[in-house]
Amino acid sequence: MKNEPHKEKRLISLRARLCLAFILFTVIVFALLWFFEVVLLESFYYTSKIRDTQKIAISLIEAYDDEDFERYLSQVSLENQICVEVLDKRQRPLYECDVLDDKCLLHGPHSYLGALMMKLQNDADGVIGMNVYNERIGQDTLVLGCVLHDNTQVHGYLFLNTPLQPVGSAVSIIKRLLMFITVLLLIIGVVIAFWLSSWLSVPIVRITHSAHRLAHGDFNTKFIGGSYQEADELARTLTYAEQQLSRVDSMQRDLIANVSHDLRTPLTMLKAYAEMIRDLSGDNPVKRNAHLQVIIEETDRLTALVNDILDLSKFENGSMKPEMQTIDIRTRLADIIERYKGVSEKMGYHIHFTPDEPMQVTCDPAQIERVICNLINNAINYTGEDKMVYVRQINLPEGVRIEVRDTGKGIEEDKIQRIFDKYYRSENHKREVVGTGLGLSIVKAILKMHEFHYGVNSKLGEGSVFWFLMRG
Ligand code: ADP
Repeated sequence: MKNEPHKEKRLISLRARLCLAFILFTVIVFALLWFFEVVLLESFYYTSKIRDTQKIAISLIEAYDDEDFERYLSQVSLENQICVEVLDKRQRPLYECDVLDDKCLLHGPHSYLGALMMKLQNDADGVIGMNVYNERIGQDTLVLGCVLHDNTQVHGYLFLNTPLQPVGSAVSIIKRLLMFITVLLLIIGVVIAFWLSSWLSVPIVRITHSAHRLAHGDFNTKFIGGSYQEADELARTLTYAEQQLSRVDSMQRDLIANVSHDLRTPLTMLKAYAEMIRDLSGDNPVKRNAHLQVIIEETDRLTALVNDILDLSKFENGSMKPEMQTIDIRTRLADIIERYKGVSEKMGYHIHFTPDEPMQVTCDPAQIERVICNLINNAINYTGEDKMVYVRQINLPEGVRIEVRDTGKGIEEDKIQRIFDKYYRSENHKREVVGTGLGLSIVKAILKMHEFHYGVNSKLGEGSVFWFLMRG
């Protein structure tokens, strides 16, 4: 595989990014505040003043027919600093309230009333509203006039005049205030941004350092989360991954140790016996044949080990696919056990088979045979003094259950979890026990490939039952 040079993109750190985002947010908030307070304040003030004055005019129109209209009028006028003039339909004054001490545009020698009336009569809606500069008080005022209706009949006229407060000076005060607040809040914003970004990024940076240590093979690294959930969860996940990696690492070491031991032992024997034949027994046919027999057995052991390693890797990388056929499992089991009998009975072992009714199952016959043989081999290797191995076929509604039982020491609870692991071998594994240490991993790989359930029930001192369930 061609090794592409790894181009590392320079990225901004989480801390800097959070800081920038927070500062940007603060700046945007202030830009908006400035825009609304400084640029839109004046038009906002005028619009709301007009709306409020219109509301007052409407409330006066509604109260016009009430008995205490005059009292209400003076109250409204005083509360809102509004001059009011009410004329009857012949334009004769009915009520007037002047809160501006004769400086109102509606009263006094330079009354604006005549001009307003003309405007009102020309207005189709019978409503006028305008902004007029009042020289007498030296500021802009809002003038509002409307017709008082009684159905379609004109009843009279209502005029309001209220000063508009100069917004300019308010804007400059607000500007100064805003400047102060902006500087203050920007400082607070930057401090909070630094604090927040550190608070968020410190656990990530700490976990990254720990992950670096783990990557360099330190399986005792502690992953410490943080004060928030995600960092804590990340730390917990990495701690779990670390435990798994550490387990796989120690298993791999065990495997290398076991496999190299298993490879070296037959090779040493091969060399020793070959030298013996060359130097000593070459001319003695009896001794030579015995030595050659050892060489053949050791070669077989070596071949089996290498084959198991190769097969297991094929199962694991998916290149070994099952060739499915429908077979009668009872006949197949009987054949296998028959073949065993010759060899095992010579060595004093007895394999007892309890068949059930013939049953058709779909599987890869060669692979399933391998599973059964591996289980029987283990049972022979680990069974007790009575040298008994029991094989059972049990037809169940959900499939055919195959059980292989021995009467050996059994397997400890904590080891049961691990015996199917690829790299696991018991510490008390003896060389006399035929096997490569990969037998159960191959069983597991084949049964998984078939999607058959499997398991082991074991009692210390009584023996173990290895089973699997073939779906029909
Ligand atoms: P091997 O038997 O060559 O060591 P296996 O993968 O077949 O390798 O088995 C793995 C381990 O499982 C064995 O080392 C042994 O400790 C345990 N084991 C397997 N079968 C039995 C059994 N029938 N009784 C007790 N222990 C067993």
